[in-house]
Amino acid sequence: MNTATPHAWRHWRLERHADGLAWLTLDRADAAVNALSAEVMAEFSAVLDALQADPPQGLVIRSGKAAGFIAGADVDEFSELRTPGQARALVERGWHLFNRLAAVPYPTLALIRGHCLGGGLELALACRYRLAVDEPGTSLALPEVMLGIFPGWGGMRRLPALIGPPAALDMMLTGRPADARRAAALGLVDAKVPPRLADAAARAQVRSGKAPRRARGPAGWLDLWPLKLLVERRALRQVAAKDPQGHYPAAAAIVTLWARHGGNALRAPDIVDRILTSDTARNLLRVFRLQERLKTNGKPAADAAPVRHVHVVGAGTMGGDIAAWCALKGLAVTLQDQDAARIAPAIGRAADLFARKLKDPRAARAAADRLTPDPAGAGVARADVVIEAITEQADAKQALYRAIEPRLKPGALLATNTSSLSLATLRQGLAQPERLVGIHFFNPVAKMPLVEVVRAGADGGDAQARACAFVGQIGKLPLPVRDAPGFLVNAVLAPYLLEAMRCVDEGLAPETVDRAMTDFGMPMGPLELADTVGLDIAMAAGRQLTDQAESPRCLSERVARNDLGRKTGRGFYAWQGGKPGKGQAGTPPAGLALRLVRPLIERAQQQVRDGVVADADLADAGVIFGTGFAPFTGGPLHYHATASAPAARTTDQAAATPPAAP
Ligand code: NAD
Repeated sequence: MNTATPHAWRHWRLERHADGLAWLTLDRADAAVNALSAEVMAEFSAVLDALQADPPQGLVIRSGKAAGFIAGADVDEFSELRTPGQARALVERGWHLFNRLAAVPYPTLALIRGHCLGGGLELALACRYRLAVDEPGTSLALPEVMLGIFPGWGGMRRLPALIGPPAALDMMLTGRPADARRAAALGLVDAKVPPRLADAAARAQVRSGKAPRRARGPAGWLDLWPLKLLVERRALRQVAAKDPQGHYPAAAAIVTLWARHGGNALRAPDIVDRILTSDTARNLLRVFRLQERLKTNGKPAADAAPVRHVHVVGAGTMGGDIAAWCALKGLAVTLQDQDAARIAPAIGRAADLFARKLKDPRAARAAADRLTPDPAGAGVARADVVIEAITEQADAKQALYRAIEPRLKPGALLATNTSSLSLATLRQGLAQPERLVGIHFFNPVAKMPLVEVVRAGADGGDAQARACAFVGQIGKLPLPVRDAPGFLVNAVLAPYLLEAMRCVDEGLAPETVDRAMTDFGMPMGPLELADTVGLDIAMAAGRQLTDQAESPRCLSERVARNDLGRKTGRGFYAWQGGKPGKGQAGTPPAGLALRLVRPLIERAQQQVRDGVVADADLADAGVIFGTGFAPFTGGPLHYHATASAPAARTTDQAAATPPAAP
């Protein structure tokens, strides 16, 4: 049936079938995923030339990679942009090429299986039809905004025309992905198809002669002038409400490029220059790379078997949620506590998590079936990983290890979720001390991407590497750290929180202190964070992790009154329904943000010097993904080295210098 391709492209394979259809497969050479590099794009242009010379009756574009369709533009090339001219050339390349694809006289179809992101989705949008293969990995998104840039290869024009501006702006301004089911519901694809019928469905669809989809009715009208100006105003208001300081200028640029320039960035070269060569874009790209680096830490060794069964001891705040997360990610999980009644609340929370994350009720039921209450601890003997998350007391933990170690499978990992205890102490008394590792999740487990993986001693390298692979397997970002008080993240947070409390002692309102940091770009102010963590825990951590013998007055007074924050309903704020009741924040004094962030930066430097993390980049990655530290800065140490270098050095200077970043 097939005739072999006469062309020698490195990345594309063109097959012409006897039925008149052409199948074009992208299988980028020397890479595990398809990214649209300059070379891949140039070859695609050559493919279109060849097809123009001898047009097929239809063209199906698909991927030769198991990982997915196309992951987007090549970020390595993006990071090499130095001048506005280079930035514009990059936009031009994709814009013109995909316009050419959209204009070919024969019908075209993108057969999407797995990830279809950024430039990959823009390529698919330039096809007449799209089909999404209905399987778990299928995910369509325009995540450019998360890199501080915009979908400049036609996405800003074609997506609103296809699914209507409200849904399109939502996708472009959040970067949120759509799975096959949602993509079909949005009209982003013509249909979702089961994997085994994908090729046949593609053949039928590309020959169907159907008109291409586009948004109709009110959703379609909103893409027309002057209604789009109303949508623009509303969207810009929402963008400003979410990012009042304008730390992330790409979002507003996307709205304006769509509303005023027909989605064609080439019509607004000033915006292209400003956005693509901005510090924000550079720093967000850095954060993306840091994330990739953490993911690499989470890759298993070639010969390693994946973890299938996890046993969690302690069904409290952390253990319960860790168990639920592991079940969500497909593992068999047994959950132990002192009795069944203490496990029940965790099972209830897990059901909520499954319903929220797995929209399909059958998938949610399957996840619930994977999570088994196990008060007797029978799962210990079957588990590949045992995670201890019981009360923070060294003797209790050691007693537990003594009881379970003889029952562990050979080769099973024994992990502790301790926040503050020394692993060197905890492993005393183990027959095989080298098997203990710290797997330190953050609260709330389902939201926080980072997990610190703590090596307990010089002999613990193998356990740490395997624990990192396990963390990667459950979709979290592992950060290898050395056993030291507070590891990385809590160690840097403690002096920052204490400095914020000293400001309250000096008479500033908590609201004003918190506002200084949310204006700086933190997701939450330090005092709200302290209330969330619990002031008793913050006080203990502060004592342990800083040399100050005395806690700030505002902290000790509250702890003495048992006003411990969110959990008791009162701390720096009065809490109701999980939300802090805040009064009006005053304007933070100049330099306040830098004063607060300085101890955090200094402690991060200290942790690098002490070898708690391997290098400054990993420290930045840990602080960003473990605390939400303003990503547009590129991380605290990067920020210190660039934006704030002179001002962040001393408190006096900082107070006299207007904040650079906010
Ligand atoms: P928690 O008090 O909510 O839960 C602890 C659970 O362990 C309780 O349900 C208790 O009944 C159970 N338990 C105690 N001894 C046990 C035993 N011998 N066998 C079986 N179950 C036993 O505590 P948590 O906040 O979930 O903290 C657990 C661990 O996680 C601690 O080491 C803590 O330092 C660490 N941690 C906590 C947080 C947090 O924000 N809460 C964050 C990171 C790490």
